[in-house]
Amino acid sequence: MRRELGQSFWGDLADLCSAVGRAMGVTLRNLGRQPVTVHYPEVTRAYPDRFRGVLALTYDKQTGEENCIGCRLCEYICPPQVIKVEMLKAEKRNFAKVFTLELYACEFCELCVQVCPTDAIIMMKSFDMSTADRRELLLDKDRLHTIGLQFEPSWATGNGLRDMQTPPKTPPAEHAKAEAPGAKPSVQPG
Ligand code: SF4
Ligand code: SF4
Repeated sequence: MRRELGQSFWGDLADLCSAVGRAMGVTLRNLGRQPVTVHYPEVTRAYPDRFRGVLALTYDKQTGEENCIGCRLCEYICPPQVIKVEMLKAEKRNFAKVFTLELYACEFCELCVQVCPTDAIIMMKSFDMSTADRRELLLDKDRLHTIGLQFEPSWATGNGLRDMQTPPKTPPAEHAKAEAPGAKPSVQPG
């Protein structure tokens, strides 16, 4: 029969000693093990290959020009509507006159990256922007470019992701083999 707490002084004392003993056993078993935590931010772990963190804007590596052409596709696709872009029309190409991103309301869905035709907006391998002040997470164009230079970019870019999703083209020889014997070729010569 189960004994209620407070029914027996010696019984309660035995339960207490047994609980302390079990807890100390766990402590002793873990005393010699290597820690699984690191002293962040002094020590940082390598991010996984496919880590997608804070958003940033990029420059063209060859010309040094901003990659953003102000097309506003990212603004249209963004579910919580946290991106605002104003286009600046120029002679050879267009730019973003204004580009703001409210990171505090971002869902990190990556849709903006997926639609960007010029790989101008990307995600970085970092989450190191924690703050207690929401105003610090209202990012303007300059800040987004600075973040793009500050952290390591994620592997995913709009063009890279679209290439991955495009079905491979069947080589002509394999296409001919796939046709049934005796069937008319799908493209008639001449
Ligand atoms: S990741 Fe998603 S929610 Fe965040 S800015 Fe891009 S489209 Fe908007
Ligand atoms: S970041 Fe990309 S999608 Fe957004 S406005 Fe610039 S070029 Fe267009």
